[in-house]
Amino acid sequence: MRKMEEAVLSHVKTLISQANNIVCVTGLGTVVESGGVDIWSVDNLYRIEKEYGDSPEEILSAGIYATKKEKYFNFYKKEVIHTLPVPSETFAALKRLQDMGKLRATISMNIYGLEYRSGLRNVIEFQGTIYSNYCPQCKKNFSLEYISEAKGVPVCDDCKVALRPGLRLFGESVRNDRMTDAAIACANADLVLVLGTNLYGSKVRYSTGHYTGNKLILINEEEHFTDRYADYVIYGKCKDVLPKLVES
Ligand SMILES: [Zn+2]
Repeated sequence: MRKMEEAVLSHVKTLISQANNIVCVTGLGTVVESGGVDIWSVDNLYRIEKEYGDSPEEILSAGIYATKKEKYFNFYKKEVIHTLPVPSETFAALKRLQDMGKLRATISMNIYGLEYRSGLRNVIEFQGTIYSNYCPQCKKNFSLEYISEAKGVPVCDDCKVALRPGLRLFGESVRNDRMTDAAIACANADLVLVLGTNLYGSKVRYSTGHYTGNKLILINEEEHFTDRYADYVIYGKCKDVLPKLVES
């Protein structure tokens, strides 16, 4: 590690130790480092387009869900819920921050419930999760196993209508209450940690746009031209970097 990076690490560590109202944003990088599959990688996008004749964004859209449920669930079962990530060391470090009374909210861009599974509270899930499936008619909830074990399209055992996965479908907007919660959390934060994503995505931009402080810390593997909007940038895997920043 270069000298400059070490200096940034040690400074950020001090900032975290002094902060009392940290808000964290978790992105795709935290899913991939937890063993999840990145269906948006160039290789996977190419393979999916060839195999299914459409992009993931098209298949996971409200339009396909409404009109071609078999296509939707075939893809959903094979590509989205087939390989489940296991929370990385990043989430254990966030839990430590929560136990210290510093972490107040986590804004999650992932659908795998990694935060709840790690014991984090006050999680604002922009995309919903694969665990909150329900019957659109009677509102009964169904487990992930029920979906993955169903033959073809999973249906409600009472109403026999197709279940609705708890995810936000492409073409649907993010729930208003979640947008408001994220805005309030960031507006009140004294430090914001952006993990495993860049600042370019509209939901990350929306959330961090409400932060008015000067401790916006970005930890991500790849460089991006929007990195300059962060006050501090550390390049690397979050699971390697964050535990070093919160050790006592
Ligand atoms: Zn039902």
